[in-house]
Amino acid sequence: MELKLENSLIKDWRGYKGRPFLISGPCSAESEEQVMETATQLAQIKEVSVFRAGIWKPRTRPNSFEGVGIEGLKWLRRVKQETGLLVGTEVANERHVYEALKYGIDMLWIGARTSVNPFTVQEISDALNGVDVMVLVKNPINPDIELWIGAIERIARAGITRIGAIHRGFSSYEKTLYRNQPNWQLPIELRRRIPDLPIICDPSHIAGSRQFLHEISQKAMDLNFDGLMLESHIDPAKALSDAAQQLTPNDLKKLLSRLILRNASTSDPKLLDVLWELRQQIDVYDEHLLDLMEQRMKVAETIGRYKKENNITILQSSRWDEIIKRVIIKGQAKGLSAELIDTIFKAIHQESINHQMKIMNNGVKNPSDEK
Ligand code: PEP
Ligand code: MN
Repeated sequence: MELKLENSLIKDWRGYKGRPFLISGPCSAESEEQVMETATQLAQIKEVSVFRAGIWKPRTRPNSFEGVGIEGLKWLRRVKQETGLLVGTEVANERHVYEALKYGIDMLWIGARTSVNPFTVQEISDALNGVDVMVLVKNPINPDIELWIGAIERIARAGITRIGAIHRGFSSYEKTLYRNQPNWQLPIELRRRIPDLPIICDPSHIAGSRQFLHEISQKAMDLNFDGLMLESHIDPAKALSDAAQQLTPNDLKKLLSRLILRNASTSDPKLLDVLWELRQQIDVYDEHLLDLMEQRMKVAETIGRYKKENNITILQSSRWDEIIKRVIIKGQAKGLSAELIDTIFKAIHQESINHQMKIMNNGVKNPSDEK
């Protein structure tokens, strides 16, 4: 199914105050005072459109705080009435949807542990049929773009038009700087696949720690994301969940004031001309790269035929080791990162192997058969 996004431009959404569309509030609603105090302070920050708070918390281990449940929905309703902010919470099953809608929640999001499960997403979609509410779909915890798009499609099928995606990073086995790997190429690919779909970045769950929130938020803005979801708490150190990554409303304000917002495009004809010219050059270089790779593969195929004829294995690891070391040194001398060279050459090498495998196993002619 092709995803149709009618009237979904984020700038037309209720509550939109400009880029970034800002969603903030505590990881979890903990008490009426904590919710009201955080919301009152956030309402003073002009960029904040939606107050978020988790009511039902998906926790990794069962002995941690699992949310206050329905009681918290009353506090969110109070926030809406007293501050004028829109309010949002996470839903993970049909009952959550019914309860949240009963309390007039404006925005529902589907968490990363839910969007991995098509049964649950479908159940939520069925509960949303014909309802007019904002729905944001977080990426699944594993970096699977089809699963993410599938979840978005299921929600769109319920007739939800104010629909968006939240990029919150992907879990990985290795311990890394951030709590969840951003894998920026996934939201970039999502934008390419569904250009009109609003994408909100959630730096809090990517970072896992306050110190990285600014750099991730800035990166999201530079990649032209539509909004940010940043967790905030009046007293982060005392938070019952995600204490290390929450900001006080005051620190949120400081972070926002340091964000540099660049334009996604320009209408200045002179600048457009210059960019057009430079992009032509890029296109020419890309063509060269393709031609060079084509030629390289042809040579690899010829080598493959010799290997076949002489019954020797495709992979000679000493030769490969020598190539990768040499190109990394040469690449660095040209100002290219070792990471780039490593990724590109591993991919090229794999492609050569694939071409040679085909020759080895498909009864392709040997070089001595050629005229
Ligand atoms: C949250 O937003 O508090 C949350 C639980 O997020 P995620 O689903 O991204 O882990
Ligand atoms: Mn959280």
